[in-house]
Amino acid sequence: MNPISLYVHIPFCVKKCLYCDFLSFPIGGRTVYNMEKYIDALINELRLWEYAFQESMAGEPLRFKSVFIGGGTPTCLPAELLFKLGAEIKKFISADTEFNIEANPGTITDEHIEVFKKILINRVSLGLQSANDNELKCLGRIHSFNEFLNSFNKLRQSGFENINIDLMSDIPKQTVKSYENTLKEVLNLSPEHISAYSLIIEPGTPFEKLWDSGKLDIADEETDRKMYKLTKEMLKEYGYYRYEISNYCKPRRECIHNISYWTGGNYLGIGLGAASYVEGIRFCTTRDYNRYINENEQSLFLRQICDVNSTKVCAANSTYWKKIAERREEYTELTLQNRMEEFMFLGLRLCKGVSQKEFYNRFGKTLLEIYGSTIENFLQNNLLIEDANSDRIYLSDRGIDISNYILSDFIL
Ligand code: SF4
Repeated sequence: MNPISLYVHIPFCVKKCLYCDFLSFPIGGRTVYNMEKYIDALINELRLWEYAFQESMAGEPLRFKSVFIGGGTPTCLPAELLFKLGAEIKKFISADTEFNIEANPGTITDEHIEVFKKILINRVSLGLQSANDNELKCLGRIHSFNEFLNSFNKLRQSGFENINIDLMSDIPKQTVKSYENTLKEVLNLSPEHISAYSLIIEPGTPFEKLWDSGKLDIADEETDRKMYKLTKEMLKEYGYYRYEISNYCKPRRECIHNISYWTGGNYLGIGLGAASYVEGIRFCTTRDYNRYINENEQSLFLRQICDVNSTKVCAANSTYWKKIAERREEYTELTLQNRMEEFMFLGLRLCKGVSQKEFYNRFGKTLLEIYGSTIENFLQNNLLIEDANSDRIYLSDRGIDISNYILSDFIL
């Protein structure tokens, strides 16, 4: 269970994009946020976890197998605050640990890039979405395509060799032609990784209001399918390998951190509203900003950790995490059934699919005992494939195209 992955949430953005429902606040709004206080609270939380681990794992030091600083917009932070946070995280990793940061092209400075290098960040994920400035404006993004290019080139010149670019299809007024142009522009830059998602209208966003009032002109089903097909074909043509439904990369450039999520790995989430998943237990930190940065709340959590540690239950045991998680928010203990479902619908998102042996090792039952008729049916319809050379079952090309429908059949 140790090492585990670490997610760090930075809840600030320059301004909210019109489609976004992530937990983030615009720093240009009326409320003034004391970012230093937030970073201090994060560092404090990290130290609490370090203490919890050392106490309960017989002094074994806490190590992270991957780190992801996301948000929000981590590059909204002044470079010196990012350094302060990164210097703490650095104590728990080695130089070859995958250390990711999400960056918004409109916010990266030379100072940020210097800090990335100092704190051992080695993978940068740039949220571009589109190479068309009108589409960017329509999404409420703060940057132009040229600003993105500037950030990308600076990262390359500074030696960053692992860059992801996020792209979006089905943007209002986007045509297949303009999407194709975005793909071409991005492929010419040869990033190591591309995440390509289509727009989702999320509840509570300005886009939802526009959609409800019939004012959001987004792609119809046919155009959506054309863009989807174009993504697959062009990325393949340029040598990208699809390893997850929406993620493509050059050889050996898969995102280790995300693969850990998709394969049921343990992770700690620190920061406002961050989710953790450890030994079958899921829990979150508070979504209340004032509570999160309140020192009394943090001391209370420390006392709670001490209480749990005094019971001498080891952190490698799910009972330990149950006791910790009960003191956090949105605590859920996944049942065996929940864990089997997650194993299937997260695992089948990966193009290599799921291993039957691993299913048995985790759950003590064979995959066919639990999902026999469902799997048989999809195999017969060529939506799933059983690898003749291994024990893996994965979605066929046609299966990936209708993955939502297939994956929903794995709910028990
Ligand atoms: S920059 Fe990212 S997190 Fe911030 S509002 Fe836009 S989409 Fe949301």
